[in-house]
Amino acid sequence: MIPFNRFGLSGNELAYVQEALGRQTSGDGPFCRRAEALLEEIFGVPRVLVTTSCTHALEMSAILLEIGPGDEVIVPSFTFVSTVNAFVLRGATPVFADVRPDTLNLDERLLGALVTPKTKAIVPVHYAGVGCEMDEIGRVAAESGIAIVEDNAHGLLGSYRGRRLGTFGALATQSFHETKNIACGEGGALVVADARHAERAEILREKGTNRARFFRGQIDKYTWVDVGSSYVLSDVLAAILLGQLEARERIQARRRAIWERYAEALRAWAPAAGVSLPLVPPHCEQAFHMFYLLLPDLAQRTAFIAHLASRGVAAVFHYQPLHLSPMGVRFGGRAGACPVTESVSERLVRLPFHTTLSSEEQAKVIDAVTSFQA
Ligand SMILES: *Cc1c(COP(=O)(O)O)cnc(C)c1O
Repeated sequence: MIPFNRFGLSGNELAYVQEALGRQTSGDGPFCRRAEALLEEIFGVPRVLVTTSCTHALEMSAILLEIGPGDEVIVPSFTFVSTVNAFVLRGATPVFADVRPDTLNLDERLLGALVTPKTKAIVPVHYAGVGCEMDEIGRVAAESGIAIVEDNAHGLLGSYRGRRLGTFGALATQSFHETKNIACGEGGALVVADARHAERAEILREKGTNRARFFRGQIDKYTWVDVGSSYVLSDVLAAILLGQLEARERIQARRRAIWERYAEALRAWAPAAGVSLPLVPPHCEQAFHMFYLLLPDLAQRTAFIAHLASRGVAAVFHYQPLHLSPMGVRFGGRAGACPVTESVSERLVRLPFHTTLSSEEQAKVIDAVTSFQA
């Protein structure tokens, strides 16, 4: 079976892990700091903190923005649960926005009707690593004094009108989960573009203590100063992360080649089969996070996934509408509220996409796809 995802070594990961094991395995060590310095350079922001996951970086964002009961947060319904759950954990009410039918990103044209005096944050997700319409989202947020937190789990190294995804919000979050472009098993980062959040973010990450200042020699003992939790990434995982980050150009070049070959090979087949290919607007430099297809309906998607499986290819669907989940319904979600999300969640399929996908394997995937008869 050709797997949907497979971790690939791309550089110095193993040598760095060995170094970490002989020196420091707990968090906030030399590899964490080197990975952070490299991410700060990539994003051009004052501070990046590596974390145990993107989920935890989102939770830190909600605490930093002091979001609580009575506050509303606008989120796409078509996303991973953590985008929303991180804010619900603080007591906020999620307000689900539908997505655009072309990019599957939060539909900025709906924001005007969703913003209320209680709106505290908008959380755009750059689906598949293609930028949301940040000009309009930024305009609405600035006009109403609303914070932007980018869930940039898919968008590392992508950009929108020449500006890096992950630098539009006061805060942005990254994921280094095994399924992401740059991976260390489980891991994430909080990208702090607004330097006012940097010091408190360090405290939240260290169980509410000022331990980071202590280790920099800025204070002579550390103590409990705020709320917090254990969001620090182990230096062993940071060693893998640094190896991957240093190899980012090779990783991205390989992902680009795979993406472009799928697009080229399926260009003629797709319209004849009633299938849509991903759309990347000309002002978006995508991050090559995934290659998806939109089938005509749920029945055909089910048949398509089964057909691929019978040919030894693991293809998978993606997010289910959050507003229709048991938790979403508790917040007033109902069928028909986000029609694009409801439609694409039943029709989307992701093809195998990882740096270890060989040319022969990709040819086999393409053959399996184009031999599908609806
Ligand atoms: C993967 C993902 C997350 C969660 O990342 P973890 O690092 O596993 O917590 C959050 N949001 C989106 C959009 C994701 O794709």
